[in-house]
Amino acid sequence: MSTAAPAHILLLPGDGIGPEVVAETTKIIDWFSKNRGKTFTTSSALVGGSAYDETGNPLPPETLEAAHKADAILLGAVGGTKWESLDYSVRPERGLLGLRKELQLFANLRPAICFPALAKASTLKPEVVAGLDIMIIRELTGDIYFGTPRGVETLPDGTRRGINTMVYTTPEVHRIARVAFDLAGKRNGRVCSVDKANVLESTEMWREEVQKIGDTEYPNIALSHMYVDNAAMQLVRNPRQFDVMVTGNIFGDILSDCAAMLTGSLGMLPSASLGAKDANGKIPALYEPVHGSAPDIAGKGVANPIATILSFAMMLRYSFGRGACADLLETAVTEVLESGIRTADIVEEGSRKVGTAEMGAAIIARLQALAAQDQSLKTGS
Ligand code: NAD
Repeated sequence: MSTAAPAHILLLPGDGIGPEVVAETTKIIDWFSKNRGKTFTTSSALVGGSAYDETGNPLPPETLEAAHKADAILLGAVGGTKWESLDYSVRPERGLLGLRKELQLFANLRPAICFPALAKASTLKPEVVAGLDIMIIRELTGDIYFGTPRGVETLPDGTRRGINTMVYTTPEVHRIARVAFDLAGKRNGRVCSVDKANVLESTEMWREEVQKIGDTEYPNIALSHMYVDNAAMQLVRNPRQFDVMVTGNIFGDILSDCAAMLTGSLGMLPSASLGAKDANGKIPALYEPVHGSAPDIAGKGVANPIATILSFAMMLRYSFGRGACADLLETAVTEVLESGIRTADIVEEGSRKVGTAEMGAAIIARLQALAAQDQSLKTGS
């Protein structure tokens, strides 16, 4: 029975394996809706190549309207070879970029979690990555990607000069810092801010402003600072030292991919992109797997749905404040992996290979068993 106000989730399955992995996640959403004291309603809309095929627009206005109204959005993936020759302005990826821009999603959250059962899949030693659980927060809308002046000019002597400008303003730094501190408060209470303050003035300012927000608004969160070169080294040397890492757009681009690969498989990695709180306290939020539409395996029923299912766990935790439900879902995934049930991308000797739907069903069966084991969980978080 539902004890909390219902929430609406907009599903954007997209292209390739997107609809397959979103379909399995929808069953998990329904399970939580029926069993955990909060009702989730869902509706679907078109995005990406499939939206282009139907409407000539990878982000139709009705999808955008539904995105603005939803409490949270779950996206599968966009893109594929079929649309590669289209003009850039109507390519499937424009649908996703358009959503990020329209909803002003400035904070990209990428957890790097290494399930002990998959520690062998990492290129690092299992004892370095087993049990890893870090969160990288990348600022998405500022920095050298957007700063001006930019471009390439030809000098009088015929040589060329390329220019990009690294720029941040204090409000941009403050808002991403607050996202990091808030998340650390829901995790292990530690933030490491990454910069290059020894060389770049804009990041020296970043460091000072993050410290200011930490001192004045989050005295209970332990804040440290690290230069980006050292952070890259520490991520592969001893990644478990980190809880939340926060950094600018370009450093985050590189560090989040590096951290993601610590965990071994693309089919396991969730993400979230968050915007600023509006007057009603709502934070626009888009949750999606890190992987793409995987055209090579689309339609075969073999894609790993776990990255999308874990994206829903992030939604439970960060959009709906249901940390206990997120823990329950992550435990179910962990136990299914430990039982040796694997999709093709993470299969290993001695494990049982299953398809997308079987993996979804195994996770639901585990949720059911966990809920039955602990009746007290039934009241929700
Ligand atoms: P990809 O992530 O789609 O696939 C890379 C490899 O990983 C492929 O071999 C694929 O089969 C495998 N893989 C990916 N997800 C998997 C899963 N859940 N289970 C099992 N195996 C999985 O990257 P790509 O091949 O470079 O790109 C394919 C298309 O996806 C392109 O059109 C690209 O633009 C698009 N793309 C979209 C997004 C997004 O929607 N956010 C992200 C990246 C790429």
